[in-house]
Amino acid sequence: MHQNTIDFIREHFESPDFIPLHEPYFVGNEKAYLNNCIDTTFVSSVGKFVDKFEADIAEFTGAKYAVATVNGTAALHIALIMAGVERDDEVITQSLTFIATCNAITYLGAKPIFIDVDRETMGMSPDKLKHFLENETKMVNGFCVNKTTKKRIKAVVPMHTFGLPINLDALQDVCEPYKIEIVEDAAESLGSYQNGRHTGTKGLLGTLSFNGNKTITTGGGGMIITNSEELAKKAKHITTTAKKPHRWDFYHDQVGYNYRLPNINAALGCAQLEKLPVILKNKRDLANKYKLFFKDEAVHFVTEPNNTTANYWLNAIILDNVSERDSFLEATNNAGIMTRPIWKLMSGLPMFANSQKGNLENSIWLEERVVNIPSSVKH
Ligand SMILES: *Cc1c(COP(=O)(O)O)cnc(C)c1O
Repeated sequence: MHQNTIDFIREHFESPDFIPLHEPYFVGNEKAYLNNCIDTTFVSSVGKFVDKFEADIAEFTGAKYAVATVNGTAALHIALIMAGVERDDEVITQSLTFIATCNAITYLGAKPIFIDVDRETMGMSPDKLKHFLENETKMVNGFCVNKTTKKRIKAVVPMHTFGLPINLDALQDVCEPYKIEIVEDAAESLGSYQNGRHTGTKGLLGTLSFNGNKTITTGGGGMIITNSEELAKKAKHITTTAKKPHRWDFYHDQVGYNYRLPNINAALGCAQLEKLPVILKNKRDLANKYKLFFKDEAVHFVTEPNNTTANYWLNAIILDNVSERDSFLEATNNAGIMTRPIWKLMSGLPMFANSQKGNLENSIWLEERVVNIPSSVKH
């Protein structure tokens, strides 16, 4: 019964071979810029491409500042420090996310609290968050304190799943009275907008990823975006070993991180960014094609929520139940077409099993039904 889908995907990608979920798309200046790095020997910690990539990302997203990092997880780690998260604090996030979000929280000695997502966005539910904050927290000395653990809740990290933006306006209204900072995990949503604003720019800070499977790639890489000059400067300093600029002296004024993005990776990023409009157009075209096709198949194809523009990074469908999902995964993967289920909930993993959580009914519902389907830009 899944043969129609298999045929449709094969026909679209015009390939009899294995069809991956998401491949990089290199058709621009990638080789030229990489050669420039090698010819000039600027492959590592200094070079013009890092500055250019940061400036280009700031321009594209509309953020005032951008700080490049070695990957998206490192960007999240530093963004949480910049938001004031410390050891023994708590950070609210979604149970339905990629592990990086929770790893970054844990690196700080902080603990995640899991809040449900909305079915439409697959991202954090402002209503569920509001319910949790109203019932489980109180304000003490200007801080939001968890009534159960007595710990401070410093930040909330929503994630724009598969590039579908959540309602950030509603989220901000919920967080404001509790003095909780928003750090947006926009790793999957480069080129996605909510109410005309690029994702990652509504909160105090946002983070991006340029891993090999993302919309554009630098091999590995990430970016912190923010409108705060002070936080951008601090983030740059702490991600470059906290070394005071000097022509020859080594002086570090705090414990820093070696999280800078090498110039050779930034070179790839500059070339990729030039092609981003083409990539986004191609992804939207594929999503529209899928939408039409799945209407006839009576399968729910996930589309962008109201008042948003999604990048359609990874296309997703929602099957009727677990056994339907499993038979779809089996049929497509057996046919050489890569499909995969959404992540296992973070709250079910051993290291987060004891974390506090709200009612996760939508997360569980989606965990049982959502499957990603091939979403590469056609070469
Ligand atoms: C890709 C991704 C990250 C960052 O991953 P890196 O591989 O460290 O760049 C963070 N959060 C989410 C939700 C992601 O999908």
